[in-house]
Amino acid sequence: MQIFKEKALLTAYLKTIWDKNCAIGFVPTMGALHQGHLSLIKNSLDENDYNVVSIFVNPTQFNNIQDLEKYPRDLDADLEKIRTVCPNCIVFAPTVNDIYEGNTNSKSFNYDGIENEMEGKHRPGHFDGVGTIVKKLFEIIKPTNAYFGEKDFQQLQIVKKLVVKNNLKVNIVGCPIFREANGLAMSSRNERLSKKDREEAALIYKILLTTQEKFASRSAKEVGDWVKKTLEKHESITLEYFEIADETTLKTCIKRSKNKEYRAFIAVFIDNIRLIDNISLN
Ligand code: AMP
Repeated sequence: MQIFKEKALLTAYLKTIWDKNCAIGFVPTMGALHQGHLSLIKNSLDENDYNVVSIFVNPTQFNNIQDLEKYPRDLDADLEKIRTVCPNCIVFAPTVNDIYEGNTNSKSFNYDGIENEMEGKHRPGHFDGVGTIVKKLFEIIKPTNAYFGEKDFQQLQIVKKLVVKNNLKVNIVGCPIFREANGLAMSSRNERLSKKDREEAALIYKILLTTQEKFASRSAKEVGDWVKKTLEKHESITLEYFEIADETTLKTCIKRSKNKEYRAFIAVFIDNIRLIDNISLN
């Protein structure tokens, strides 16, 4: 495994690979790796000659300073996990200064309105931070394929828009959500949940599965009302939003159309820890 902490050293190494015209797969992460991240790396391994994994907790995408400070960081443990699935991986774990060069600010992006829905509404500036770091990383690594989880479905759509709007030459691959045995979507934030809260959090996926069933015969509003009522009975879980939205525009489904694909999205707090999940309704 090759580990780089500075972009200058990484690009000097990658130059020999770019010249060979090989396929480079790229998996951007913020570390605290789990099976979900490793599943992205496995997809990359299957489809590319070289594989780059980045580990970088990007400050510009956090709108809550405490969330940034509490974000779990353990580079050695992450490297060990990567080694188990990808012993030849190229790992990029830069410092904030190496990436932002003293200017830790986001650029402003237009994603045709996708940025104003759900996560965008509740985390102001988040997608400008995501666009800023993803564009920087794409420009440094110049990957052929880049892998993103459907766990952050809105982010996946944002990255696809970023690529089209900026004419970036990279193919974006969406990967399915990897779940714990009880159905809870794997997340680095799950580590901060108590054992009891982790069990309670399994309800999120159960609600999404029932949403899938109910949406076959009921309107988006009826399903949304049922979700709100169900969660009101669970004191430990606070609903931030539940939306049934068009998969492409991410606009709320008000009147269902046969030609559109829909997805249900949910964000909750459990003991001040924010969890998101989603499910396809088609
Ligand atoms: P993060 O480290 O949270 O920024 O996530 C890095 C990448 O891993 C993103 O593309 C996420 O969508 C993806 N990811 C995170 N959790 C999961 C999961 N449970 N299943 C699949 N992909 C995931």
